[in-house]
Order: sequence, then C-alpha cells, then structure tokens
Amino acid sequence: MENDLHSIESIGEFGLIKDLAEGLGTRNPLTIRGIGDDAAVCRIPKGEVLVTSTDVLVEGIHFDMSYSPLKHLGYKAVAVNLSDIYAMNAKPQQITFSIALSSKYTVEAVRELYAGAELACETYGVDLVGGDTSSSKYGMFISVTALGTAKEEDIVYRDGAKEKDLLLVSGDLGAAYLGLQILERERLIYKENPGAQPDLAGFDYVLERQLKPEPRQDVIAKLKELDVKPTSMIDISDGLASECLHLAEESEVSVQLYDTKIPIVKEVREGAKEFNMDPSICALNGGEDYELLFTIAQADFEKIKDEKLFSVIGYIDHASVGSNLIDASNNVHTLTAQGWNAFKSE
Ligand SMILES: [Mg+2]
Repeated sequence: MENDLHSIESIGEFGLIKDLAEGLGTRNPLTIRGIGDDAAVCRIPKGEVLVTSTDVLVEGIHFDMSYSPLKHLGYKAVAVNLSDIYAMNAKPQQITFSIALSSKYTVEAVRELYAGAELACETYGVDLVGGDTSSSKYGMFISVTALGTAKEEDIVYRDGAKEKDLLLVSGDLGAAYLGLQILERERLIYKENPGAQPDLAGFDYVLERQLKPEPRQDVIAKLKELDVKPTSMIDISDGLASECLHLAEESEVSVQLYDTKIPIVKEVREGAKEFNMDPSICALNGGEDYELLFTIAQADFEKIKDEKLFSVIGYIDHASVGSNLIDASNNVHTLTAQGWNAFKSE
C-alpha cells in the first residue's frame, strides 16, 4: 500500500497544483475565470455588494489528525467559512483554499482533503477559484476565504438587535461538542491500547455534527420565504453563551436567555449523561454547532411561530439589565462566556 502513495516532493508544487486543479470545474455562473491565471475573476450581480470572510485552521489547534478524516476536514474547512457568509444573510459564491503541509502528507492525502472541499462547494453551489500551496515544517495549515454577494439592504449585522426583539436559534445545540468528547475519549483509549477498536456505536449524530457540520443555507432561505429579515445575526462557532454576548455587546443591549428553551436533542442529553455533563454546558460553551443565532422584531413572531427550523430561546432587553441565563426555577444567572462555570459558582 505504502508504494502506491506519492510524496509531494516527487511531483513538486506545480505538479500538485495541476493535479488538484484537474478535478475542479466551475458551476457558478458568477465565476468568469477560476484556477489557472494569476487571479480569479468573478462577477458581482448588479446592485449587490461583496461579502468576504477568512478562517485559518491549524493542525493540533483546530483539528487533530488522529480523528479527522481528511475528506471531512476539507468539507468542514469550507462549511465553516460558508457559515460566516450565511450569517451575514448573504449568498456564498466562491472560495479560495490554501494549505501548507509538512512532508508527512502525501499527494493522495491532499487529494482527499480537496475532494472534501469540492464536495462542500458542490453542495452549496460554490466554486473553488484559487488558493496557494506551501510546505510547512510541522503539520498542516488550511486557510479558506469565502466570497459572497448580497443586496446591501439585505445584509444582517451583529449590531442591529433592539430591546424587545425575540432571540432565536436554528437547529439544535451541543452535539458537535459532545462529538468531540467522544472522539477525544477514543483517541486516549487508542493511545494506551493501539489494538482497541473505537466504540462509536450510537453516536452517529453527534459525530457527524462534529466532523461534517452543515452551514444553514436552508434557514436563510426560509427566512427569506417568510419575509422575515433578522435585526441581528451571528453563527455559533464558539458556543451559545459567547455568541449571545457578542450580539449583546455589538448591539448595546442585553440578552435574556431561557435555559429550558435551548434546543437539545435526545442524542445529546443521553450522550452528556455518559460524560457526567449537563447537556446545557455542551450548548452554552461547547461551540462548533454552526447554527444561526439571530433576533427578530416581535411584529414578525406570527410569521415564524410554526417553523420547525428554529426556536425562540429568549429576548432582548436594555443593556443596563445585563445578559442573563434564566433557569427552570426562574432563577437568574449572569451569562458569561463560560456560562456553566458561572452557573455553578453562584
Ligand atoms: Mg462567525
């Protein structure tokens, strides 16, 4: 098997770029020229503006090779960037994908990574139009830049939440964090006993949420269909508590969040039990759910009240009230980015 793998050195950087570009076509009508020239050329629809966002992912910091299949990693690197574009209520159109790799990675490994990136592009109608490859002394670095477009008046910022607005979140929370706990547990077991088989049965949902998150294109489309424009919005990369505080700070308001309204599925409740965790900790502080957290005017409540894609989890109050987490017994706890710790110490 070893003999079938090729070092990147053996084909060189140009060889690698050529190899990777071969499988990539363009599908987005706004892409005029993708890979192959000094720069990509893309059209912006008349009357729209450009929305762009970049992430850097570092091996050992943002991902661990012992449990990140390369195809999933490529998919996730793209998905999390698209999530930022959707969080602006914009439509992603193109990405650039850049990597730096140590010599432990083979041509075949890089192909897997790109196959994942390309699958995410295909899923969301986006073109991979450029990027760079470099060598690195240690490990892998990935940088993705997403380019999106929107009408300027459609863009939703973090700073638009108003007093009395309702606070909503899409999907369910905590699963990605729980998935990570399971992968981490299996990694440690494997380290001590390399013959051990991973025990991942029953955890499909939370593992998928950790390894292959999907940005909420459907939520953006649904809001448009319902003719609801959020007053503020952010995607959940660092955990519900932290993102609530970002919205509150940027909008100069406070968030009143109901613990019992946080959407948590059965798989997370049961999985959390195995780790002696409160499922709320996974949702509040876990992160990587890539759901959308947003506020809407109360007047729009009628339009969204029957929607299953998102839930009302709180409301916006005056800044002087301070952001709070309200528990099942109606006790009020100051919301912090480490919400659970604060919850416990009170
Ligand atoms: Mg974001």
